[in-house]
Amino acid sequence: MGNYEIFSYTYGLNMSLFALICLIISGFFAAQEKRLLSPISFLITAIVFDFAGSWSEKLALNAYEAGQGIETYVMFELLLFLVSMIFMLSAASSFISGSSSKDSFYASLPVWILGGLGGIAVILFTVIIPAGDIVNNMRLIFPFVSFLYLAIGLASRFNSSHNNGYVLAFGVTVILAVIIGLKFFNIYTKWYITPMSYTLFALSFLLMKTNSLEDELEKSEQEIAKYNRRIEEIIKSSPFPIIISRLSDDRIILANDNAIKLFGIKPQETDKYHLKDFFADSDNRRLLLERIEEQKEVQDFEVLVKTSSTDTPFWLLTSANIIDYNYDVALYSAFQDITSRKNREALLQNQATRDPLTSLYNRRYFEDEVKKQIIYSKNAKQPYSVLMIDADFFKKVNDTYGHKVGDKVLIELAARAERALRDKDIVARYGGEEFVVFLPDINVSQAQKVADRLRESIASVVVYSDDNQEVRFTVSIGVSSSDISDNVDTLIKTADEALYKAKQGGRNRVEIFTKEDLKKFISDGEQMSNEEKKNLHPIYDKENSAEISLLDGVDTKDFADKG
Ligand code: GH3
Ligand code: MG
Ligand code: MG
Repeated sequence: MGNYEIFSYTYGLNMSLFALICLIISGFFAAQEKRLLSPISFLITAIVFDFAGSWSEKLALNAYEAGQGIETYVMFELLLFLVSMIFMLSAASSFISGSSSKDSFYASLPVWILGGLGGIAVILFTVIIPAGDIVNNMRLIFPFVSFLYLAIGLASRFNSSHNNGYVLAFGVTVILAVIIGLKFFNIYTKWYITPMSYTLFALSFLLMKTNSLEDELEKSEQEIAKYNRRIEEIIKSSPFPIIISRLSDDRIILANDNAIKLFGIKPQETDKYHLKDFFADSDNRRLLLERIEEQKEVQDFEVLVKTSSTDTPFWLLTSANIIDYNYDVALYSAFQDITSRKNREALLQNQATRDPLTSLYNRRYFEDEVKKQIIYSKNAKQPYSVLMIDADFFKKVNDTYGHKVGDKVLIELAARAERALRDKDIVARYGGEEFVVFLPDINVSQAQKVADRLRESIASVVVYSDDNQEVRFTVSIGVSSSDISDNVDTLIKTADEALYKAKQGGRNRVEIFTKEDLKKFISDGEQMSNEEKKNLHPIYDKENSAEISLLDGVDTKDFADKG
């Protein structure tokens, strides 16, 4: 500002001092921002020296009016303006070079050299060869040059996206340079220019600080966006289906192509889906969420899911954890298809309980399951019955049409029996061409009717031989019931006894094992040797038949133990 007008009036000085203090305070506040520290410190130091220089000018004027020598004052004044210029140029180069104070030191090196030469000139023209014109110009040139360079320094910050603080300071600087320029033509200004410019600088410092904070915010937003993009890329390129869903409302935020394919998601409408849409079992989902809530993540959790288009559930393995995504707390879930593994497990389970030819339960499953059912029925005080079914003259079917047709007959017989009976009835292949049925909740007289209907139904089944001949067949059925025993082995044996009776009675018929039969059965059993039993009851013989044990895949030893 380099003028002494402010000192001509007391209030001018007071106002300027007050504005200067405000400037220092706002500068101190703004300089907390790291990249503003050096330019603002330089600028404030420059302004303070400029103020002191103006004061010195006023003192020189006073001395002149009092008729005293002024060389010392003038030299001091010029030196202060010179130092002010050096700091202002440093501030400018610091605005240009950025925040690093080390860089700004090197950038301002020419400034310091210039300052040294200026100092020599000041001493030369005021002390050694006093030259009034040169001295008068020097006290204007120093601030003029400083403000021009400062304007350039401030303009260098215009490219930053938040810059209104720099624009304001630039405007003030340019106006001040113009005002000082006018002084070359002896056009003097008003005292209030100084406090006003201090105040505007103070304001621009505060704006610079806000600009800087806005820049940082923008930068951190960009960082977050970059982080999200990176997550997206990783997820997109994953070989596993991955879904990110918002934790607050369960909405899907991101699903990769594999997940889109797996769950049948419409790619453009990802956000219309909720993660729970794909869970086939709400208990399974609740368990997963509880686990996540407890441990923040789960590994290898089996979930039963479905697609958006079908309700057929299938198994997936999921690993999930909670992440920050796009300003939301989100659930990251990666999936792995384990349908084939589950199918294999089911198959193994089947192999252990099912007969491969007819797909009916096998003997072992039947016995285990019926044991449980009997306990249940007894507790519920409900009756139950057991049917033993044997194909009549089956050997002849095999002999006439071949083993393959025989197999077909067994398959059809099994299918018909299953269809004819209720879901809760247990139908099993007992061995060879023999089948066994457990009828819960059915007493002996009802069982007789059921067995008779079943016999008729099976008699109507037709199977075709290779040369397209109709093959028909019949069965004989023996019935035992809860009237006779609550032991599964006894029930089977007594039903078999009744079946034997049906065979003896001409086949294609149903026979009941009665309580009278039971008395006879027990007393006979006590008197007979094992050899004799074998002759009486075909069942004893069958167990040792290699043919049957090969065909039904059940260990004969099991059965021999019971016999
Ligand atoms: P019955 O009326 O007295 O029961 O006469 P049957 O010929 O049915 O009786 P038998 O027990 O003498 O013969 C059963 C035959 O069943 C013997 C065996 O070849 C045949 N068989 C057993 N299991 C299978 C099988 O899985 N497939 C085929 N094709 N035949 C079987
Ligand atoms: Mg038979
Ligand atoms: Mg048989």
